[in-house]
Amino acid sequence: MVEPHTRYKLISRLVLYIALATIIGLLVGQVTLSLLVASIVLLAWHYRQLIRLQIWLWQMKKLTPPQGQGSWEGVFNGVYRLQRKNRKRLNQLADLLARFRLAAEALPDAAVVLDSEYNILWCNKLAQRLLGFLWPQDSGQRIDNLLRHPDFSRYLVQAKYGVPLELPSPVHEGRILEFRIIAYGEHQLLLIARDISRIRQLEGMRREFVANVSHELKTPLTVLQGYLEMMESMQSDDPMVARPVELMQQQTQRMKLLVEQLLALSRIEDEDDIDWAHEIDMGLLMKGLEIEAEALSLGRYQLKFECDPQIAILGNEFQIISACSNLISNAIRYTPESGSITVKWQAVSDGAMFSVSDSGEGIAAQHLPRLTERFYRVDTARSRQTGGSGLGLAIVKHALSHHHSELVITSELGQGSTFSFTIPSILIVQKKRID
Ligand code: ADP
Repeated sequence: MVEPHTRYKLISRLVLYIALATIIGLLVGQVTLSLLVASIVLLAWHYRQLIRLQIWLWQMKKLTPPQGQGSWEGVFNGVYRLQRKNRKRLNQLADLLARFRLAAEALPDAAVVLDSEYNILWCNKLAQRLLGFLWPQDSGQRIDNLLRHPDFSRYLVQAKYGVPLELPSPVHEGRILEFRIIAYGEHQLLLIARDISRIRQLEGMRREFVANVSHELKTPLTVLQGYLEMMESMQSDDPMVARPVELMQQQTQRMKLLVEQLLALSRIEDEDDIDWAHEIDMGLLMKGLEIEAEALSLGRYQLKFECDPQIAILGNEFQIISACSNLISNAIRYTPESGSITVKWQAVSDGAMFSVSDSGEGIAAQHLPRLTERFYRVDTARSRQTGGSGLGLAIVKHALSHHHSELVITSELGQGSTFSFTIPSILIVQKKRID
């Protein structure tokens, strides 16, 4: 903005110039001609200043402007001030960018900045090493053109960034990478990839160790149990012998169940390569589960099975049986006698649903998110008393995750619980009805 006193100076100079031209005109008796000449001189002078400004702006590399004259002095100085301000801002921005890049380079993970169309805008050095990107050659490329894996393309299409994606490394054989995408700013995405091979390797070692120990424990336990059964059959009248034998038998039975559950869990964890050609006859499976439930219930519960035998599924039979039977045995164990338990297998809009509802003790809301953790129990003493291993729901969770499904728990304290899961339509085989 031009300051008021400068504006005043400019106008007064113009008035003075016109007055001078008028006086000269009056003196020579040619006012119009004098004014015309004065206007042409003024115009020429302004053009000259304009040309100087243009030359400075477009052709000269100097930051300082040429000395402005008259009314143009303010213009030259104003442009100079603006340019200096811009240059300072640019320097600040470049400084900030350099610092951001240094910070991104210091990250222990591969970082790639993407636009909303998944085109690469920038990546750090670790991304070049871990993902095999070339910089700057790959700038502007769509990331799925470089990371060619069907799961990665599906991940981008589904855009469910809350869950990380695990993929084999495109560069180093045998390595596993975990990808995460974080949306930020206006339609920008940050892709973070980290090498999790070591974590997976340690997990594998842990699983193997647990499986080996459990396997090794099986034989001594069977021997112990055999001898205890023999001692019990001898029917000693001495209470000093009979009671300890009974307790030992109970404890070996518990240990046996724990070992079996540990073995089942490691087997299910390892079996993530499902044979999708295998059809599970759910009608038959449900019949088996019903017989097992009757045996566990011993007539103390009202058991109801409502199953559609026409809905078969594709998957791993051992895993599905383990999941269903754990849910049914839990319902029986956590429901007081004469309570009711209903098991359903029926078609729903997005597949087929298995559910077990009981009229048992129910579970308080704060426990629900942690129930599927290994050895998590609402009431440890109660679980032991009912013969629980603390691994049942962990087994269910793993078995279901291999079948693109997850456990849904609804429960109300004192009212009962419903444990259910839905097998998606792609794994459903509808058998023909024979009327
Ligand atoms: P556990 O062998 O102890 O039953 P689970 O993993 O099968 O271990 O279950 C974890 C915990 O979830 C149990 O200890 C119990 O507290 C709770 N739970 C599972 N099923 C039910 C149910 N139907 N009703 C009430 N609580 C249940």
